[in-house]
Amino acid sequence: MRRRFLDAVFGKRAELKPLAERVGRKTSRLAIRRRTLVGRGAVVTGGGRGIGEAVAEALAEEGAAVVVAARGRDDIEWVAAGIEEEGRTAYPLECDVTDPDSVAAMALRAQELVGGVDILVNNAGASSSAPFLKVTLEAWESAHRVNATGALLATQAFLPEMLERGWGRIVNVASVAGLAGARYTTAYSASKHAMLGMARCLAEELAGTGVTVNSVCPGYVHTEMTETNIERIAAKTGRDAKTVRAELEARQPGGRFVEVEEVAHAVMTFMPDDAASLHGSELVVRGGGRRAGREGTRAAAPEAGDRSSRTGAAR
Ligand code: NDP
Repeated sequence: MRRRFLDAVFGKRAELKPLAERVGRKTSRLAIRRRTLVGRGAVVTGGGRGIGEAVAEALAEEGAAVVVAARGRDDIEWVAAGIEEEGRTAYPLECDVTDPDSVAAMALRAQELVGGVDILVNNAGASSSAPFLKVTLEAWESAHRVNATGALLATQAFLPEMLERGWGRIVNVASVAGLAGARYTTAYSASKHAMLGMARCLAEELAGTGVTVNSVCPGYVHTEMTETNIERIAAKTGRDAKTVRAELEARQPGGRFVEVEEVAHAVMTFMPDDAASLHGSELVVRGGGRRAGREGTRAAAPEAGDRSSRTGAAR
């Protein structure tokens, strides 16, 4: 089928010539696309597990020297060691993205270690859920500190040197919860809206500088965060976690949770030189669904006292 299509478009057997010959390059585009990040330095916040771990691995696989940053020493050492075992380069650095001094110290050390940070993935995040009237000030502020302020601080720390070099890639791991509201996710969803709002404003300021900022918006991903949400729903509704998980998965557009590698793949889309015009975009990663919003944010297990059988869990 594909062959017949090529014949029709390029003339018989045209596709059999080496690609390089046809496009007039010394190497084929495919060859150029291999390991595009050799010589680049990258920082992944929240790189100690889940999505951040997969992103750190993908960046390292593509040739970048990667700083794996999070609070938990064991996790970041484990991830960095795994990357090193594969013959790539990674450094674990402890950092709490909510603490300006901690971010500044990490940024300084990261720049020393990788010789300049060209890529920042703002992935560190935390979720919580509660009905609107039960959202405490602490939960609200805590969600904003990690999900929005953390991204602001890290971006401010690395942006000046990216601008100086005229090349940079900033990717925020936001959420579909940043694109639409859902029940019981007020603090988390508002903080992800803030993260996306920040990225939209920054994209306006960065146009034409060589530094791009983009966001990925996953639906439920198969990670510890989602497991914690499932356990939270199970505890609140008196149901077992296995049932909650199965119902929640069945309600996803693709009938399953997104895998971390799929989110990492989306993040990597923004990295190549020829992705320079991918700027200010928000890439939804949830396996389908016309809208980013409501249907996909409903879980199957009913929150205690909720007669409509719909429960939101932050993700
Ligand atoms: P995990 O809970 O598995 O991992 C979160 C990571 O963030 C950990 O490495 C954690 O390490 C780190 N982190 C948390 N707080 C801080 C902090 N204050 N400073 C530095 N690092 C911190 O989550 P996921 O992998 O699932 O999520 C990653 C991102 O993706 C988050 O931003 C999340 O909101 C987003 N997301 C997740 C979805 C899902 O369904 N799982 C869906 C949509 C978006 P430590 O605690 O050691 O610091």
